[in-house]
Amino acid sequence: MKAMVLPSLGARLELRDAPVPKVGPTDALVRVRAAGVGLTIVIMIEVPGRVTAFPRIPGHELAGEVVGIGSEVTNVRPGDRVTCHFYLTCRACAYCRSGRETLCTAFRGYVGMACDGAYAEYAALPALNLVRIPDGVTDIDAAVAADAIATPYHACREEARIGPGDHVLVVGAGGGVGIHMVQMAKLCGGRVLAADLGDAKLEAAKQAGADDVIDVRQGNLAKQALALTDGRGVDAAIDIVATTATLEGSLAALARAGRLVIIGSRPREVWGVASTFTVDPQVVLNRMLEIHGSRYVTLAEIGQTLELLRQQRIRAVVSRTFPLEAAQDAHDLIRANALVGRAALAIA
Ligand SMILES: [Zn+2]
Repeated sequence: MKAMVLPSLGARLELRDAPVPKVGPTDALVRVRAAGVGLTIVIMIEVPGRVTAFPRIPGHELAGEVVGIGSEVTNVRPGDRVTCHFYLTCRACAYCRSGRETLCTAFRGYVGMACDGAYAEYAALPALNLVRIPDGVTDIDAAVAADAIATPYHACREEARIGPGDHVLVVGAGGGVGIHMVQMAKLCGGRVLAADLGDAKLEAAKQAGADDVIDVRQGNLAKQALALTDGRGVDAAIDIVATTATLEGSLAALARAGRLVIIGSRPREVWGVASTFTVDPQVVLNRMLEIHGSRYVTLAEIGQTLELLRQQRIRAVVSRTFPLEAAQDAHDLIRANALVGRAALAIA
């Protein structure tokens, strides 16, 4: 089969002919039809320790058809269209069993990092990671739903707890996760202030439903957010960029009882600088602020996200599709922050 392979840490992807993966007793073999491409992958293949062996086939946002199953698999059958959960979890620890599997204490790593993933014609994946795609949802849309749309679902509902009329600041609103965060925050009833750099991303955020936009190049993030809320501040600030500046700006933009939700990941190993930020505990106390980390989603939340797509309450924004062979070109554009919305591979 054709596969785009990561030969070593942070290296450029290479097109190779690879054997169709073997299926273990608890695995399913998926004929991959679409794979989402986002900053998470681009960053993680550069962080020491994330990819557990080389060569590795990256990719975790996938959609495809089950074409074979192991002897112990009962939850999917050949012919099922499926997408996939990103985390390899134990399903037995207290967190897994209380619906908080992304905090698994026996975490085994990530699909596409600790096992081969979606940048190939076939992938063998733990069957319990797979989620059926409802009729009416395309492969490309379902692939992107598994992370870029599901992550906003969890963040808006469980962490930011957006209710009707809440003012919501989304930082990094024009990116692959951000563009869906804008839509999800609107769907939850929020009034969305979309912050990003550059006209193309801000225009895309507007198209996705943002009520107001903040160009971070035009001045202080918190000041602009406060000006757009008559000095009151926002009920939730969701930071998908998570630099020192955006985190401090997001915190300063909060209204009383506001929630800061951290989604962006900027490992020092990749960006060369730590994104630590300063918090004044007296302000957090007096204003009863909340700081949340939002780490991916549960399997059930992927199902809910697919249902929102089926109901057409959320629109997958896939701005560019590439053939499998061009996966590195997609990575280069994402690394240069030159893509609006999500990119995907269409795998024939
Ligand atoms: Zn666990």
